[in-house]
Amino acid sequence: MTLSTTIPRTFLDLLERAGRDGQPILLDGAMGTQLMEVGLLFGDPPELWNVLADKQAKVRAVHRGYLDAGSDVILTNTFGGNPFRLKMHNLHDRVFELNKAGAELARAEAGDRVVAGDIGPSGEILQPTGTLTYADAVEGFRAQAQGLAAGGVDLFWIETMSDLREVQAAVEGARLAAPHLPIVVTMTFDTRGFTMMGVSPAEAITELVKLDLAAIGGNCGNGPDELEAVIYAMRMVRQDIPLVAKSNAGMPKMINGKATYDASPAVMAEAARRLRAFGATLIGACCGSTPAHIRAMKSALFDQPPLDPATLTLTVPLARRRASNSDRRERRSRREV
Ligand SMILES: [Zn+2]
Repeated sequence: MTLSTTIPRTFLDLLERAGRDGQPILLDGAMGTQLMEVGLLFGDPPELWNVLADKQAKVRAVHRGYLDAGSDVILTNTFGGNPFRLKMHNLHDRVFELNKAGAELARAEAGDRVVAGDIGPSGEILQPTGTLTYADAVEGFRAQAQGLAAGGVDLFWIETMSDLREVQAAVEGARLAAPHLPIVVTMTFDTRGFTMMGVSPAEAITELVKLDLAAIGGNCGNGPDELEAVIYAMRMVRQDIPLVAKSNAGMPKMINGKATYDASPAVMAEAARRLRAFGATLIGACCGSTPAHIRAMKSALFDQPPLDPATLTLTVPLARRRASNSDRRERRSRREV
């Protein structure tokens, strides 16, 4: 008896289908801000909830919400699960346990759908600018990835990165832990179109393709308007790599000391169509988003006709862009040849 070949079973199957049929891949939305809605306190480590008997159901409920909304891929609740960040909570001896548990919770909800092991930045700065050695960074990410792999993730999802060397360390660590698993990397371009460490989208994709990744892109940041410029800039450089767009639900605003996000599901749905037209294949959302956002994005991506990129203009300018609109149009038409 053979399984149906029409239902993608792995992340690479999803990518292959996307390449073949031009179908986007729907990602999930926020985890951290969703857990805060159900009692996680700002500053507390969300990863601890993966092992607390009275909290595990809340983590699973977030996953369930996104799966029910249609996400093809969900990310584990392990964004801060590296030893450097866990050390701030004196949890650095529990890296394996917390990550394995996070992977198992997502796996238990996901069934046949794809579980990506979420790996966020160390929160430290690498030498020589900072104090973290490259070797220590590799080892820290390896330890996290080992827990995620033991819990059954299908791939690693390295996100919110701003330093290319730290990305390299994370990829190296992940490959040491599980050489067979695909890796996706997204960086955060939240500083006038650059990452905090000064990396442009064009530089990011130029360097990241050397790491043999399954997909590359941008996440978090200042909302979809800025992310569409990131996707556009990356697509100008490479046309052969699947791009990821996982924007925050709008530009974060501090209200009473709390970051709040005001992009509605309808706004994010339209943004998803634009991100798709600008060249993103894997589309989801980041901080401030909810299953309602993902459901609306799914409907926009799958039930509405795609937008024609030739009719679109970027909402915000590209980083370091000097070209005029007509130059951009010319470059875009060249890209489509
Ligand atoms: Zn975010």
